[in-house]
Parts: sequence; C-alpha cells; structure tokens
Amino acid sequence: MPNHMINRRALLRAGILTGGLLTGVASASTAVFARTAQPANGTAPDQRPATPDQAWATLREGNRRWVDGTATHPHQDIDRRREVAQKQDPFAVVFSCIDSRVSPELIFDTGLGDLFVVRTAAQTIDPLVTGAAEYGPAELGTPLVVVLGHQRCGAVTAAAESLHEHKKLPGELDTIASALRSAYKRSGGDIDKMIRINTIDVVKQLKKDKLFVPRIAKGELKVIGAYYSIDTGVVTRLV
Ligand SMILES: [Zn+2]
Repeated sequence: MPNHMINRRALLRAGILTGGLLTGVASASTAVFARTAQPANGTAPDQRPATPDQAWATLREGNRRWVDGTATHPHQDIDRRREVAQKQDPFAVVFSCIDSRVSPELIFDTGLGDLFVVRTAAQTIDPLVTGAAEYGPAELGTPLVVVLGHQRCGAVTAAAESLHEHKKLPGELDTIASALRSAYKRSGGDIDKMIRINTIDVVKQLKKDKLFVPRIAKGELKVIGAYYSIDTGVVTRLV
C-alpha cells in the first residue's frame, strides 16, 4: 500500500480533498482503511464494521433493538460529535425513501457519523443520486450499500395511480412516476409488489455502477436490497 494512498484517504475523511469527488481514483483496500479508523479518543466501545457482512450484521442488530424497543441510541452525544468533527468514517450507505417514518439512523439504531444517507421519493435514482451513493464506497471505502424500500410507500402509490389513470402528476412529481413505470408494469398493479420490484431494480442498477463493479468483485463492497415494515419496524432483506 503506497503511503500516499493512505494519506489521501485520511484527507478525504477529513473533508480536505474535496477534489477527490471529481478524480475518483482512490483504490486503497477496505481492510487497510479500517485499521486506520479507530475511534479518536477511545470513548466509543465499538469498532467500525470493516466488511460488507459485518456492516449488515451491525445494521441488523440495530434494527432488532429498534423493533424490540431496546434502542441504545449510540453515537448521539457530545463526545461523538467531537470524535467525528475532523473526520467521518461511516460503515454503510442507506438509500431510502423520503418518507418521514423511514429514518435510517432511527430504524437501524445508529448515530452521528455511522451512515451516509441518500433519500429520494421511492428511492428512485438518477445520475445525481448515483453520485451521492458512489461517494462513500468510492472515496472512503464504505463496505455496504443498502437500498431500502418500505411498506405503504406514498410515492409508489401516487405513481401507480397516475400510471393507471394515464394522468400526469404535477411538476417534477411526474418524473418520479416515470422512474417507476417499469416496476408498475411488472407489478400487475399490486403496490407492495411494485415497492419490492423497484427496490430490487435499483439494486441491480447500482451493482452495474462502474465505480462499484471492481469493489464488488474484490469483496470490498456489497449492494443489497431490503424492505422496511412501517407496522412492525422490521427490515427484511430482499436481495
Ligand atoms: Zn416511500
């Protein structure tokens, strides 16, 4: 591992090398990155999950606490704010809907500096959103991307009604309906099926992302799809 690569990562985590977003050349291994990412002051008892499977296990454990009503609200105090003030080291990207009932930090019982969160209506995707999802894995070695659909998604429901009635939604809302057209056609009008199909579609799209492909091949990154139940709080993996 050339020293300059490690140094570049340290600078990126500190937000100093903003130009890194444009160059996209970071290739240091996740393992090395993880070793350099110990808690700054030793106050955090946990270590950042270094692999895709460890990251998913941590999210699952957090979700279990959320479901059971035993959330610990980690990393939400002044010490944590100080710890991450000069660098960030999130272990996952969660790409979810804007729905106010699907807040990733809450439903995975995480805190400050733990997650990159990307949110659009019905977690629909375009190049700008893809860039936001790329940032963590490509520049900081974030090992996991979770695309999270959810029960009773209003955006999916509105899109399905619009497509069914051939009635355009106002403003840019119609762009969301257009993005969901393919999922609508394959769902047979079943909203919950459409939510799941769309989530899996977005996973497939991200897995083909040119910055993700080599990382996935090396086992440094996983892109997975999951479904959140608003009724129970449970996150279930789809793909
Ligand atoms: Zn939604």
